[in-house]
Amino acid sequence: MTAEDKRIFRFAPSPNGYLHLGHAYSALLNFDLARQVGGRLLLRIEDIDTGRARPEFEAAIYDDLAWLGIDWERPARRQSEHFGDYSVALERLDEMGFLYACDCRRSDIARATDGKPDWPRDPDGSPLYPGTCRAKPRRPAREALAAGGVALRLDMRKASALAGQGLTWQEFGALPLSSNGDELGATIGADPARWGDVVLARKDTPASYHIAVVVDDALQGVTDVVRGSDLFEATSLHRLLQVLLDLPAPDYLHHDLILDEKSEKLAKSVASTALRALRAEGWTPADVRRRIGL
Ligand code: GLU
Repeated sequence: MTAEDKRIFRFAPSPNGYLHLGHAYSALLNFDLARQVGGRLLLRIEDIDTGRARPEFEAAIYDDLAWLGIDWERPARRQSEHFGDYSVALERLDEMGFLYACDCRRSDIARATDGKPDWPRDPDGSPLYPGTCRAKPRRPAREALAAGGVALRLDMRKASALAGQGLTWQEFGALPLSSNGDELGATIGADPARWGDVVLARKDTPASYHIAVVVDDALQGVTDVVRGSDLFEATSLHRLLQVLLDLPAPDYLHHDLILDEKSEKLAKSVASTALRALRAEGWTPADVRRRIGL
C-alpha cells in the first residue's frame, strides 16, 4: 500500500475545555480504526472560536492523548492558522451567488421568531433564520466582512436548488469500516434545507465550524470522519458544502455518545469526567477503555 492509498482518520477537538470520556471514546475509536486498516491518524485543533479557545486546553489535549497511548501525525493542524483557506472557500461560494451579509442581532432574530410555536427549527432546535437580510442589496463577501459587523449566511434555497437534490452520504455503523463493499455501510439521504440560511462566517470570526470542517477534511485528505452522533444531522450541511465547493465526500461513522450515570451527555463544564481528573484519581488508560467499552 502506498502512502496515497492509506485511509486517513482525524480527531478534531476544540480547545475550550478539558477532554472527557466522550472525547476519549472518539479519539481511541479513530486511533484503533486507523491502526486496524493500516491508515493514518491526524489531529486537528478546532480553535477558530478564538474567544473560547485557550492555550492551556490545547496543551492538555496533547497531554491527555499521549496518556491514552494515542499516536498521531505531527504537527497538528490548528484552524486559527488557516483562516485564509476558509476565506478562499467563502469567496468561491460568494462568486456563485450563495452568500449574503447579515447584520441581525440575536435579539432581532428572537423578535421575528419568538412566540410563534410553529416556527421551523433546525436539527439543533434553534429557530431557522427568518431571512430578514436575504433581500438586501448584495455586497461582495470580502467587502462585507472587511466593513465589519456582519455575518455571512448561505442562501439555502438557492444552494439546495442547485445541489441539494439526491444528496447522500455513506454512513458506517458497524466495525470494521470498509468502503470496498457496501455490506457495512448505509446510504443516508441528506436534507440540508432543514438548517436554513446557516452562518458560514461569524461577526467575530471570519469562518464558522461548518465551512472550516469541510475545507479542512478535504485539504487534509480525510477519507473517514469518525465523530459523535451529535454531528450526524450536520453532515447534511457538510455534504451540501462539499458539492458546492467540489470537494470529495469522505465516509462517515457517527458513534454513540458516552453518557454519565444519570444517562446525560457529558459536558466539558463538568470537571469530574475530565480525563485529567480521572487520571488524578488513579484511573489508568485501561480503566478508561473498560469504562467506554473499547
Ligand atoms: N470540534 C468538534 C467538537 O469538538 C468536532 C468536529 C468534528 O469532528 O467534525 O465537537
